[in-house]
Amino acid sequence: MPPQIANSIPALDLRAQYASIREEIQAAIQAVLDSQIFILGPQVQALEQELAAYCGTQYAIGVASGTDALLLALHACGVRAGHEVIVPAFTYIATADVVSLLGATPVFADIEPATFTLDPSKLEPLLTRRTRAIIPVHLYGQTADMDPLLEFARHHGLQVVEDAAQAIGATYRGKRAGSIGELGCLSFYPTKNLGGYGDGGMIVSNSPELHDRLRSLRSHGETRKYVSAEQGWNSRLDEIQAAVLRVKLRHLNDWNSSRRRHASEYTRGLGKISGVVPPKVAEWGEHVFHQYTVRVPRRDEVQRALANEGVPSTVYYPVPLHLQGIYRSLGYKSGSLPEAERASAECLSLPIYPEMSGDQITRVVEAVEHAVGA
Ligand SMILES: *Cc1c(COP(=O)(O)O)cnc(C)c1O
Repeated sequence: MPPQIANSIPALDLRAQYASIREEIQAAIQAVLDSQIFILGPQVQALEQELAAYCGTQYAIGVASGTDALLLALHACGVRAGHEVIVPAFTYIATADVVSLLGATPVFADIEPATFTLDPSKLEPLLTRRTRAIIPVHLYGQTADMDPLLEFARHHGLQVVEDAAQAIGATYRGKRAGSIGELGCLSFYPTKNLGGYGDGGMIVSNSPELHDRLRSLRSHGETRKYVSAEQGWNSRLDEIQAAVLRVKLRHLNDWNSSRRRHASEYTRGLGKISGVVPPKVAEWGEHVFHQYTVRVPRRDEVQRALANEGVPSTVYYPVPLHLQGIYRSLGYKSGSLPEAERASAECLSLPIYPEMSGDQITRVVEAVEHAVGA
């Protein structure tokens, strides 16, 4: 084995986390097995209450994934065929997918270069009579600038559905991600800051009406057993996931603090390297560093050089949504959303997870220094 591989640093190490909570997790799963209740039972109910409390909302509803959370949230907000929904061009495809799946059209907005999040000053020209909602994405673990966005939405009668899949625990002026718009969508995909051992998602809100709607939408539109008031989905959270997530939720604040500590350490080292732009922490809140994403010149070369030193890195996301093949028919051209395109060309996410050691951070910083200097 070549030395650089022997010393390689994982991009994410779920095994280290599992090792630290193994007994708690096994007891929680065993309790579900003993109960033989598997779908929407007491574990899901308890997790819904605990997550609502964590996010500072009155309600939470468990669903099958973060993507489903967005889909059901938009539907509950009245998004239908023919409507338009404003979405940042620089995010994971799921944010826009769900809009198209409902027969509506995503309208792509450019981002603020410093935070990689939706730029509220770019919204006005995108507005039409068909615009129904905006989905700010709290990318990499930092919230979008919500106040101007909410003001714009209120002024034009639009709903705000937060894509908080990457930002559980992050804050905006004291409020937790997901609790700021009409509805907040969380993902428990295994690699997220609160990751399950399978798929899962949650929608948090303060609206009893939307909450009731969502409860029915996740289960075939049922208002009570075998009585459906409208079409819905099968999008349910299972008891094993909920039990795992309840254990992990107890550790989330510690894990997010570790991520923040690692990020400061990274920024202290990388800030000295000419050409490397470390991520900005906006003054409006706490970043939970789902990703630690820098901008570098000659990104692909830097990524290859890092790989040669045993340091994995990832490009989230190499193609902005307005230039994806599936949206060709919408007619966007290269150059139409310049900041999203520049971010796609320059962004590079370095390894970050709570269990990383200070030595590993130092090694990544040194490898970046070599790679950028080479
Ligand atoms: C992960 C993610 C989703 C989708 O969540 P799933 O649970 O994988 O369906 C949506 N939006 C963003 C920004 C994400 O990172």
